[in-house]
Amino acid sequence: MTTHKLLLLPGDGIGPEVMGEVKRLIGWLDAQGIARFETEEGLVGGASYDADKVSITDATMAKALEADAVLFGAVGGPKWDPVPYEVRPEAGLLRLRKDLALFANLRPAICYPALAQSSSLKPEVVEGLDIMIVRELTGGVYFGEPKTITDLGNGQKRAIDTQVYDTYEIERIARVAFDLARKRRNKLTSMEKRNVMKSGVLWNEVVSAVHQREYPDVTLEHQLADSGGMQLVRWPKQFDVIVTDNLFGDMLSDIAAMLTGSLGMLPSASLGETNAKTGTRKALYEPVHGSAPDIAGQGKANPIAMLASFGMALRYSFDRGDLADKLDQAIAAVLAKGLRTADLQSEGSTIVSTAAMGEAIVKEMQALHG
Ligand code: NAD
Repeated sequence: MTTHKLLLLPGDGIGPEVMGEVKRLIGWLDAQGIARFETEEGLVGGASYDADKVSITDATMAKALEADAVLFGAVGGPKWDPVPYEVRPEAGLLRLRKDLALFANLRPAICYPALAQSSSLKPEVVEGLDIMIVRELTGGVYFGEPKTITDLGNGQKRAIDTQVYDTYEIERIARVAFDLARKRRNKLTSMEKRNVMKSGVLWNEVVSAVHQREYPDVTLEHQLADSGGMQLVRWPKQFDVIVTDNLFGDMLSDIAAMLTGSLGMLPSASLGETNAKTGTRKALYEPVHGSAPDIAGQGKANPIAMLASFGMALRYSFDRGDLADKLDQAIAAVLAKGLRTADLQSEGSTIVSTAAMGEAIVKEMQALHG
């Protein structure tokens, strides 16, 4: 059996609490001989600053580069507001993304039937929703140069951000999205603003060319990003995989996130280039939520986003889609039984702690394994 090398970076606030439930699941999988993991743990964010005065040490970074996948909790909190900008907790996450060259951000939005009532949209619009937003993460307007604010000397200032994409950047993110579509419902929607932006014209052209050349079997649609946003809240089930740039992806993935109810439910993955020799790729998995200082240390955090992030690692880094499916089923079953952490509270549900939710999910996994 393959041994999967996993670096765990719990971070701050509720990070260690929700990571604890992943450790419980890993322990169970190991003990049952279902999968084998070699895990190491490191500090990141405020916890790393407290110990070493940096948001991530070079030694931890080296471990991240060696691991098959990195599992990240959350960083930050008011305690570290006064620390210098370069070593603020978030800098640790940004360094990981940069040094691992993670250019593809995957954000699934899944609405478990038991939670359809928690969405701000009508239950019939979101029930059973299962879409995936693929956002380009290392290019576009957040990084393009020039990026300046200039004093014009007449009481006015001018701010410039530059939206820039090269063909190769669009090709590689398109391939990630087409590959995902092939493993799902075989449909990809590409979103840009070709009506007003040159980068949108090139994006559209390159995605179409990759489609024609390499993925003619996948259904490809193009939508303008603004009307795409509208469609996401009107009838999200029309989508399977959506691919878009860094800026539009930032916004559209947050819109999609809210379709599903709570921040505590949302996993994500960030992937790098595939190594041609080994066929593997650098990857970091993390919940979308932050360190939630308001509930940290109280056993109230929902561990599902963190557990589902581990599920994405099983699927995309460890080729264990079978186990990821079982984990999804176990989460759905626990929710269907009415168990909820406080963030999902609704009438008739039973409120449980972080640990009790994690335990219940492992128990369901046990039942699914007969
Ligand atoms: P947050 O996601 O931490 O919390 C927002 C709200 O959602 C809070 O009320 C919190 O209690 C709740 N919440 C979040 N996750 C939850 C969970 N798993 N279970 C139950 N409730 C949950 O966002 P914020 O309050 O804006 O930021 C808090 C800190 O986290 C800040 O320092 C911020 O910079 C940092 N942050 C870190 C990341 C990251 O590590 N990737 C992401 C976002 C924010």
